[in-house]
Amino acid sequence: MNGSKLGVLFVTSEAYPLVKTGGLGDVSYALPNALRELGVDVRLLLPGYPAVLEQLSLVEVHEDIRLSPLQEPIRLLAGTMPGGMTPVYVIECPSLYQRDGGPYQDNAGKDWPDNALRFGILSKVAAKFCNHSFLFKPLIVHCNDWQTGLVPAFLTFNPNPRARTVISVHNMAYQGLFGPEVVELFGLPTESFSMFGLEFHSKASFLKAGLYYSTWITTVSPSYAKDIQTPDYGCGLDGLLTERQKELTGILNGIDTTAWNPETDPYLSRHYNTKSLPVKVRNTQALRTKLWLPPAKQAPLIGMITRLTEQKGIDLLLPIIPDIIKTGTQLAILGSGDEELEKSLQDLAKRYPKHISVTIGYNEELAHQIEAGANMFLMPSEFEPCGLNQMYSMRYGTLPIVRRTGGLGDTVVDATPDNIQNQVATGFVFEEKDSDELLACVQRAIRTFRDKTTWRQLQINAMSRDFSWHKSAQQYVSLYHQLLD
Ligand code: ADP
Repeated sequence: MNGSKLGVLFVTSEAYPLVKTGGLGDVSYALPNALRELGVDVRLLLPGYPAVLEQLSLVEVHEDIRLSPLQEPIRLLAGTMPGGMTPVYVIECPSLYQRDGGPYQDNAGKDWPDNALRFGILSKVAAKFCNHSFLFKPLIVHCNDWQTGLVPAFLTFNPNPRARTVISVHNMAYQGLFGPEVVELFGLPTESFSMFGLEFHSKASFLKAGLYYSTWITTVSPSYAKDIQTPDYGCGLDGLLTERQKELTGILNGIDTTAWNPETDPYLSRHYNTKSLPVKVRNTQALRTKLWLPPAKQAPLIGMITRLTEQKGIDLLLPIIPDIIKTGTQLAILGSGDEELEKSLQDLAKRYPKHISVTIGYNEELAHQIEAGANMFLMPSEFEPCGLNQMYSMRYGTLPIVRRTGGLGDTVVDATPDNIQNQVATGFVFEEKDSDELLACVQRAIRTFRDKTTWRQLQINAMSRDFSWHKSAQQYVSLYHQLLD
């Protein structure tokens, strides 16, 4: 590199605070910032959704870029991410990205019918950075999830000997499956549509393209890297991942410790830290008032913030709700997604208004207030690549109750008698996808909550853990250098 900075293009379909549907948005903001602090010249590439164009001040850097199969030319704009650290390139293509609705779905929750084209073009632009005369020439293209899976395929069939690709899997369950015609549409060779390529049960899989053609694969926790090599969690791609296990690394996500800091969080009623923990109760009171939950001094308040999908284990929770609230415990749930799950939760809130509050929708402010106000945080996920909320919770002294899967098991230390004694316990962990086990775990947490001295110690243990990006970003930097050696 001749002393010049390592150039990395970080290609993503969402980035906080511009556009976010889940953990990928958080990672796409915080990881590039952490990489820049380590001296990497990382730059983002994002589609020009309305929210992106509105929130950034952008200047044109390349015009009239023609990419088949698009009829119209596109423009590449450049700016800086909010916070002022990371340069960002934005693809301006109104017919693909400028529309009402989410990044992947319309307002009714239906996938955009032209998603193959929308994200195929995102990938094509990313590959073009390596092979054409754009001002920035990355040595590493860091791809994220299926939306960017075609980048490694494009770079394999139109190689640039210097560029390497890394694909990070944030969730194996989303694969970007499309009809076989997309192969020809994007000018990929026919032979790529095979088992030894991007074909997946007669469909073209963007994720498989990424996993098959990338130089390296990462996923967002060490345990999830192992989980996805098994049929239970590999979503049909476990065979390929097992074959590539020497080029597969699990690097735990960090969290944005500035945005998620109980000492400075602008959404909180009262700020606190390990030394002023009793003040946390003021946030609990404020949350109860906001959500119309009656005061309940001795009983805990359990928070839950989640996409409402099968993955998140809501089906384990629903049958045991009556048993949980029997103890006086209250629940504050924020989420959106699957209509049936939304309805089941809303019905419960109507039935038990003194115990359950359900807010349907996406609400950043309320998410922070739940993290600060709740005593415990529930994540009974069926699978969890990394999970961020359990780390936010620990930072806020809100002890997580989680199933041991993926990143949840890697981050939460169960309150066993030994772990309590050794002052390392930070939450409550159960093993099986089983409602009775979940209930037993919640009851164990409630019993521990009544022991104020132990609870305080667990809160301090949890709040003292370092979940910052620094260590993980260092692992990515080592990986980039290893790929270029
Ligand atoms: P996933 O990526 O599977 O959705 P993560 O725990 O990794 O799960 O990340 C979820 C992120 O999205 C967290 O920052 C969480 O606070 C946020 N989030 C999810 N649903 C909502 C919601 N309804 N309102 C506000 N934030 C939400």
